[in-house]
Amino acid sequence: MDLHFSAEDEAFRREAADWLESALAGEFSVLRGRGGSGDDSALIDERKAWEKRLAAGGWTCVGWPREYGGRGASLTQQVIFHEEYARAGAPGRLNHMGETLLGPTLIAFGTEAQKQRFLPPIVAGEEIWCQGYSEPGAGSDLAAVQTRAEREGSEWVIHGQKVWTSWAEWADWCFVVARTDPDSKRNRGLSYLLVPMDQPGITIRPIEQITGDAEFFEVFYDGARTEASHVVGEPDQGWSVIKGTLAFERGVSTLGQQMLFQRELQAVIDAAKENGRASDPLIRQRIADAWMGLEIQRYNALRTLSNESQLSPEGLITKIYWATWHRELGKLAMDVLGPEAEVACAADEGEYALTPLQRLFLFARSDTIYGGSNQIQRNLIAEGALGLPRDPRPQ
Ligand SMILES: Cc1cc2nc3c(=O)[nH]c(=O)nc-3n(C[C@H](O)[C@H](O)[C@H](O)COP(=O)(O)OP(=O)(O)OC[C@H]3O[C@@H](n4cnc5c(N)ncnc54)[C@H](O)[C@@H]3O)c2cc1C
Repeated sequence: MDLHFSAEDEAFRREAADWLESALAGEFSVLRGRGGSGDDSALIDERKAWEKRLAAGGWTCVGWPREYGGRGASLTQQVIFHEEYARAGAPGRLNHMGETLLGPTLIAFGTEAQKQRFLPPIVAGEEIWCQGYSEPGAGSDLAAVQTRAEREGSEWVIHGQKVWTSWAEWADWCFVVARTDPDSKRNRGLSYLLVPMDQPGITIRPIEQITGDAEFFEVFYDGARTEASHVVGEPDQGWSVIKGTLAFERGVSTLGQQMLFQRELQAVIDAAKENGRASDPLIRQRIADAWMGLEIQRYNALRTLSNESQLSPEGLITKIYWATWHRELGKLAMDVLGPEAEVACAADEGEYALTPLQRLFLFARSDTIYGGSNQIQRNLIAEGALGLPRDPRPQ
């Protein structure tokens, strides 16, 4: 195990940092620190333009193979890029789903024609994607999906409802899990469809969150259509593709986020020093604990890199550990601020404009739910790492 970065990786870090520093000037300087968790609906047009700016600099899809327009960066360099991106205060990525979920899924499971049609606009920052998995009765238990799709001539016709679809309103396309064999049960008979969002058969309704932001939506499919060829993998046999996307969701993109967390922890420490609570013995201990937790995350990420295997039993702790840590950091931030946490609002942004620490507290509640809830993660650890009996599942 070597926990040091090579000279080549350090040069890559400087290149990324220098580029980000110069790109986030002028018209894009307004984006610094914006569009992150709980602030996702901010500055959509500007962030769409930012996607194209990143693309022009060759900084989208850095981990994709060169043959698909990526930069072919190693796993370590991808983490370095995520770290420098956060360090520079660059905005939340609007095409996170296209770049980290759909793209890798197509590279692994798509046909040549699908790769040629869909990958270049993701690399160019021109087509934004969203994820149509969850339904009112199918979240953790995704095999309970009821949305259905039928072949009609050269098209699929889709009926059903999805929920919690992040960025649906701003997306051009959605990857939708639908039941294409009407007689099927559970994880059989499902297909992975690529569906254009701008059409009469789709209605999108925002769901306002506790942060005041509406980053996710209810999406109603009422005779929505897509071409017959826009199915990834075999029709009725989409389960392995569906699970492939979930594996990408818990993968690389979270390995570089310690830099963002470090900035947040520093903001909590600064607030504690400023208002005197840094002298409170219990607050001091919790801050020290938070710092330890962050160091553990960093070492865990480096260890995962040095193994080059995120699917090892140890890799299973990553999601539950960072999500729980982040939720606790939010609570600590509120306790550091004390009564001020309840009344403060962001300068010049209106009565209900949250400060970044309030937003952290409120949004981090969801970290332990999306991408596999804490309870589901524990089940995975129990089964995958400890060999305990399988969690009973509906038949
Ligand atoms: C911010 C945010 C963004 C999201 N974005 C998207 C998106 O873009 N696209 C999308 O498709 N979905 C999205 N989701 C939905 C997310 O995937 C689901 O919320 C998640 O899968 C949990 O499903 P659920 O909400 O239906 O809760 P449920 O699955 O109903 O779970 C309810 C509770 O029961 C527990 N539970 C469930 N099953 C078990 C079990 N077997 N053992 C023990 N406990 C269990 C859960 O842990 C949870 O505490 C998003 C969610 C959030 C919070």
